[in-house]
Amino acid sequence: LVVLGIETSCDDTAAAVVRGNGEILSQVVSSQADLLARNGGVDPKMAGEAHSQVIDQVVQETLDKANLTEKDLSAVAVTIGPGLSICLRVGVQKARKVAGRFNLPIISVHHMEAHTLVARLIEKNLQFPFVALLISGGHNLLILAHDLGQYTQLGTTIDDAIGEAFDKTAKWLGLDMRRSGGPAIEELAGEGNAESVRFSIPMKQHKDCNFSYAGLKTQVKLAIASKNIDATIPISCASSQDRSSRADIAASFQRVAVLHLEERCQRAIEWALKIEPSIKSLVVSGGVASNQYVRARLNQIVKNNGLQLVCPPPSLCTDNGVMVAWTGIEQFVVGRYDPPPPVNEPEDFVYDVRPRWPLGEEYAEGRSKAR
Ligand code: ATP
Ligand code: FE
Repeated sequence: LVVLGIETSCDDTAAAVVRGNGEILSQVVSSQADLLARNGGVDPKMAGEAHSQVIDQVVQETLDKANLTEKDLSAVAVTIGPGLSICLRVGVQKARKVAGRFNLPIISVHHMEAHTLVARLIEKNLQFPFVALLISGGHNLLILAHDLGQYTQLGTTIDDAIGEAFDKTAKWLGLDMRRSGGPAIEELAGEGNAESVRFSIPMKQHKDCNFSYAGLKTQVKLAIASKNIDATIPISCASSQDRSSRADIAASFQRVAVLHLEERCQRAIEWALKIEPSIKSLVVSGGVASNQYVRARLNQIVKNNGLQLVCPPPSLCTDNGVMVAWTGIEQFVVGRYDPPPPVNEPEDFVYDVRPRWPLGEEYAEGRSKAR
């Protein structure tokens, strides 16, 4: 079994070829970082065009690197949501073109399920049920994974995701935006004193598993203004005193942003164990899970609860094609795929893309409604 996975839900065009046993034969990620830096964020139309420009090349390079042709594939998996519909459509169109021409089944993948299940490629002993914390630019989810395609949502963000807070903090601190904000904050935080700025932990009074990062973003903005930091002066040109106050804010922000995750994870583990007492693992995935401080702090929480932490390597935490191919494999082996599309799809064919697509049902009043 050899599956090609295609991912275009946001700003990275990614593809990979993975074997049924989890062996990664090749992977390619083409990032729109430069475009992002120029625009200060994702512009859906431009992101869609950027995907269109590189998609053929990314897929070809992926096959070449694996020393394969389309004829060697068993199926094509593609992210159909959630994400930007203009972007999703580029990946779905390409996947259907390849599948149609080479008579291959097509597998529709949920982007957040892919972020979750890639943990089962990394850790072959990871069995359902388990708890997962998914932290990225657009999502902040705590879920209970019962089985493939069966999830209970324990918590989500009521406003922004943690990755968005990292990205904005980086922008306001004048960090280099040619790459995403998260790694830049992580690096600068290493120079700072995490106790120096007193940010308050969000939603302390709410005894649930939901998140909020909008208020923390505002606190950061106010702290930056009060220290007279000028984001138009890049950090590389800042005086040493200015640089150290930026580093203090980065470190203090990171500490509190992660304390919020820790508190919510502890509660989610308690809730989840009541529903599924056999749980042994917490998966942490999504772009922010590549942060070493995040990993270390959550590892401690997991250990305190006698569980195991499963966190994919950074390249599989941020958007990638491997997670899509692997989730496709998990679905394929239980028969969840569609027959090959026609060779020439009509021009006006309406692609099934799902820009908004919740992962599982919400958990309410101590009852799991998903089962
Ligand atoms: P979503 O998965 O919600 O659709 P996305 O696909 O854009 O969003 P990912 O690629 O999974 O997100 O993650 C990108 C996010 O991860 C960005 O917000 C980025 O700043 C953050 N990130 C990446 N590396 C780090 C790091 N080392 N520390 C903190 N945040 C990080
Ligand atoms: Fe993602």
